[in-house]
Amino acid sequence: MDIKKSRQQKIKRLVWVHIEHGDDLLKAISGYCIENKIKAGIVSVIGALQKARFGYYNQKEKKYYENSLNEPVEIVTCWGNISIKDGKPFAHAHISVADNKGNVFGGHLNEGCIVFAAECVIFELKGDSLKREFDETTGLFLWDFSE
Ligand code: ZN
Repeated sequence: MDIKKSRQQKIKRLVWVHIEHGDDLLKAISGYCIENKIKAGIVSVIGALQKARFGYYNQKEKKYYENSLNEPVEIVTCWGNISIKDGKPFAHAHISVADNKGNVFGGHLNEGCIVFAAECVIFELKGDSLKREFDETTGLFLWDFSE
């Protein structure tokens, strides 16, 4: 299988981001990127949440469903990217969390993940970012490589 679409960008800088106790994780990341005009990047978070919300995309129905854990959990990993959607920086990340028995759950990072403590780093990229456009096949807003 040939890869037909790809793009290279250099890393501009690494930003260490403190997210406050009680903040909504996704809103905090998105808000930081919008405020600081970070239009392209990679985001990584570890830490703990007071409660977690994450999505599962039903590919047949082309619709997101939400799962939640209303208990303190560890952020095992949270990894995502920053690109442009509707003309502004947009964070898309996935998260896996562990409960008090070590069971791991996860999915698409939704709003509603309330931070207990979080260590977030953003690798900001140089140059223009990819924009997201609606993709008929998947029903998702995917990267547009045409520009
Ligand atoms: Zn996702």
